[in-house]
Amino acid sequence: MYRIPFDRVNWTTSSFLIGTALIALFGLPVYLYHYGANWFLVALFFFYLIATMMSITVGYHRLFSHLAFKAKLPVRVFTLIFGACAFENACLDWASDHRRHHKHVDHDGDPYDISKGFMWAHIGWLMFKLNPEPPMDNVNDLRKDKWVMWQYRYVHWIGLVVGLIIPSALGYAWNAYHGLDPWIGALGGFLIPGIARIVVAQHCTFFINSLCHTVGRQPYSTSHSARDSAVMAFLTFGEGYHNYHHEFQHDYRNGVKAWQWDPSKWTIWTLSKLGLADSLRRVPDSKILLAEMREARRKAELHLEEIRQQQQPGQCQRASDKVHELVEKLAANYHELENAIAERVQLSREALNRWQNETRGIMREISRIQLLTPA
Ligand SMILES: [Zn+2]
Ligand SMILES: [Zn+2]
Repeated sequence: MYRIPFDRVNWTTSSFLIGTALIALFGLPVYLYHYGANWFLVALFFFYLIATMMSITVGYHRLFSHLAFKAKLPVRVFTLIFGACAFENACLDWASDHRRHHKHVDHDGDPYDISKGFMWAHIGWLMFKLNPEPPMDNVNDLRKDKWVMWQYRYVHWIGLVVGLIIPSALGYAWNAYHGLDPWIGALGGFLIPGIARIVVAQHCTFFINSLCHTVGRQPYSTSHSARDSAVMAFLTFGEGYHNYHHEFQHDYRNGVKAWQWDPSKWTIWTLSKLGLADSLRRVPDSKILLAEMREARRKAELHLEEIRQQQQPGQCQRASDKVHELVEKLAANYHELENAIAERVQLSREALNRWQNETRGIMREISRIQLLTPA
């Protein structure tokens, strides 16, 4: 029978995670039943949620962990302050864990290794210390940033003051100004933009490690468990295109197509237009398409293999011959693009679209071909 390793429990983190969840699940409904919520508290909740989540996705993740762009001081300080309000540890620790996640994804060195189970990847890795703490030897570049080190020293104080005391004080002031009981306002500020927002933001982040390695498609690679999902992108402020992200981790975009929901990408782009960010890193479209074509070809080869295995001796060869022909076409296109990239040929948007449409057309055709009945 499975036994909880109590001697390895991280009591501080576990108490915080369980305590805040219990307050949000039970304390908040009691408060709302008795006192309701005014628009000010709701607006404050959304302001804090967006500021916190964006500080994690734009700041902790894309800026500090992946160096996907360069940001001016106000952006770095803002994301470090509101990142602290997520209570997901200091940016330095977060980036160290995250860099190891990318380096060892789905294997032992990955702190939130999905192969150890959904709950482990979601929250278990924070609640238990099953493995010895690895040295933080992969964030020496960040140690040179004095603001990162300032946040590292005071992260819990910053989170407490900016993430809990200030919203409580604002709730107090709002009620006092409107002639209502200020302490009820303070409690509302503590519960709604404070605790409830922390719980929502934390689980949205944890989803990236659990659901984004479980639910969705793998258009760029199946060499790791990361997946692309529009629903997850919505819940994670754009981080749900995680298959793309694991394939091209230094790109400032996660949702790379025009229609994909990636508010973190739009924020970084807007900051660059305002002169607050620069050196945005993008993977060339041709390389992205090459990854898609490689994956399409691999899936087509698998389909061909399946058809061949189902085929009985003497059965009509038409289905497998047709799929074989299409697989050859995919391979030829793939090599053509690969050579063009290697020879640094300038590829127009039209040429790339043509390759893309042809690949999709072939894949549609292949998916329609099943084993034919004997002739
Ligand atoms: Zn991941
Ligand atoms: Zn990442």
